[in-house]
Amino acid sequence: MHRNEILSALKSKPNVSVLIVGGGINGIGTFRDLALNGVDVLLVEKGDFCSGASAASSHMAHGGIRYLENGEFRLVREAVRERNRLLQNAPHIVKPLPTAIPIFKRFSGLLNAPLKFFGVLDKPSERGSVVIKLGLMMYDAYTGRQRTVPRHQSFSRQESLAKWKELNPSIVNTAVYYDGAILQPERLGVELILDAESENPNARALNYVSMIAGNEDTIMLRDELTDETYDVHPKLVINAAGPWIDFTNHKLGLSTHFIGGTKGSHIVVKHEELRKAVGENEFFFENEDGRIVLIFPLYDRVLIGTSDIPIEHPEEAHCTDEEIDYFLSLTRRIFPSLGLTRENIVFQFSGVRPLPHSTAKTVSQISRDHSIEVLSGDWTNLRFPVYSLVGGKWTSFRAFSERVTDKALAHLGLARQKDTRSLPIGGGRGYPREPGGLKRQIESLSAWTGVTRERLKVLFERYGTRAETIATYMNGGTDFILRALPDFTLREIVFLVQHEKICHLDDFVLRRSMLAMLGLVTRELIEELAKAIGNSLGWNEEQKAAEVARTLSILADRHGVRL
Ligand SMILES: Cc1cc2nc3c(=O)[nH]c(=O)nc-3n(C[C@H](O)[C@H](O)[C@H](O)COP(=O)(O)OP(=O)(O)OC[C@H]3O[C@@H](n4cnc5c(N)ncnc54)[C@H](O)[C@@H]3O)c2cc1C
Repeated sequence: MHRNEILSALKSKPNVSVLIVGGGINGIGTFRDLALNGVDVLLVEKGDFCSGASAASSHMAHGGIRYLENGEFRLVREAVRERNRLLQNAPHIVKPLPTAIPIFKRFSGLLNAPLKFFGVLDKPSERGSVVIKLGLMMYDAYTGRQRTVPRHQSFSRQESLAKWKELNPSIVNTAVYYDGAILQPERLGVELILDAESENPNARALNYVSMIAGNEDTIMLRDELTDETYDVHPKLVINAAGPWIDFTNHKLGLSTHFIGGTKGSHIVVKHEELRKAVGENEFFFENEDGRIVLIFPLYDRVLIGTSDIPIEHPEEAHCTDEEIDYFLSLTRRIFPSLGLTRENIVFQFSGVRPLPHSTAKTVSQISRDHSIEVLSGDWTNLRFPVYSLVGGKWTSFRAFSERVTDKALAHLGLARQKDTRSLPIGGGRGYPREPGGLKRQIESLSAWTGVTRERLKVLFERYGTRAETIATYMNGGTDFILRALPDFTLREIVFLVQHEKICHLDDFVLRRSMLAMLGLVTRELIEELAKAIGNSLGWNEEQKAAEVARTLSILADRHGVRL
């Protein structure tokens, strides 16, 4: 259903079983599961989908090997299982990721885990090879019989330096284990929404709609594009506002302190030698002070992160000069000969992890697990309960959403009909797995649609098997490549505008495509895209100019991209 149709239906029919506030991955995952189970559910997101914490991730589908040290065994077991499911259910976006740990000490950190577990140690320190080996053996055990990814391997110093020629020669050895890379997390979020809406006509998701107040049986929403307000009457509210959870509860008259967020930043660099040195491996390691750093292959760029710094207000998160210096110096520690500098940075981003409020002495000791906090009863002045979704990760969103959905179904007196464990996501549906399968699919699609094989290969890389629908659409009218970016065609963009809830130019540049993150945007491209998207959405010249200005300012202020 189109945005305006959903909004005008709300005017005439304001009752809804479940209202989800927040369109990050936790709200979206729950939306999909409820939709699948026949519930009428409305999701509202004040900005674009996956523009909060969900836009700031390290792009890893991972069990969180380091959480073992904090004794979070349940979380790691669940996350490893969910990582494997993501690799199965969304193979177009989530790929196996060999992860190398360069190790500089042999015995360091042996006592860290037990000391941390009993709360005696509150300072992180670098782990040695013995501790890492023990952790990796446990991690392998959690993968169990599923064996979606291979077991870990250890390489001597000599083997490591032969394998990665630019690696710092002071290492004592390396270990390689497997996790997953979520290459386009924001696209995964949108595909989950589209799946949910096509499954259930009573599941509706709106971006650029805020929850602004609530009382008794009514919630007030505001359309951020028009300022118009709407009342809805839910039986249950799910507060999935991530780092904004306490602010959102406050709007409902509820004073909570569930969240103690930590900021994490990343940079994306364009550096051919570094990209070559990394190969297809992520490098995941600890600094001398025990903080975690990752160097991650992201298409033909390299993603480097991340920090973990307590922060009060999510809006204040941005990547600072100190963080950039820290990332550059750590990358130099691993690859000392490659001369990475600030000039190589093409994009930067920062976000806040919605971690539970905690009295832990260090951020690394704060639990990374998720929980549902329930607020209900006369004292709330509300006639419906509010579930706040605290914590959660991209990797384990499905399991968290399943728990929330089970609780919501019980509240509504409904039984679960379907589950999401083996449910393919978006363009992961029917994705060829056997060797040569993709090539055959592309050849037959090319013969059928007339779209070249090269172009189809790109479309499959971007959209998985949704490439079939998009190619058919592209073939249904006159199409041409963009002047400023020959890698995209007009009808491909128009398809996304019409089917993927794009409201602003930056939705496309930052979240429906990887253009900004990979440093592919130019001023000319932004102007050309404003025209293509604006013509499809009926913007006049003034609106197009305003969208260009808005996008340029977001790119400069939040991502360090000055065009
Ligand atoms: C630096 C960093 C690195 C990470 N790396 C990884 C990783 O590699 N792998 C992994 O699995 N996880 C990772 N995570 C964790 C993961 O990204 C987050 O935990 C997850 O995205 C949280 O999702 P969410 O839906 O709870 O919150 P969000 O994505 O923040 O969604 C909440 C949404 O609510 C909206 N909202 C707020 N108030 C209102 C309102 N009043 N009305 C309407 N909407 C509202 C916000 O705009 C926001 O979009 C990382 C997180 C960070 C910050």
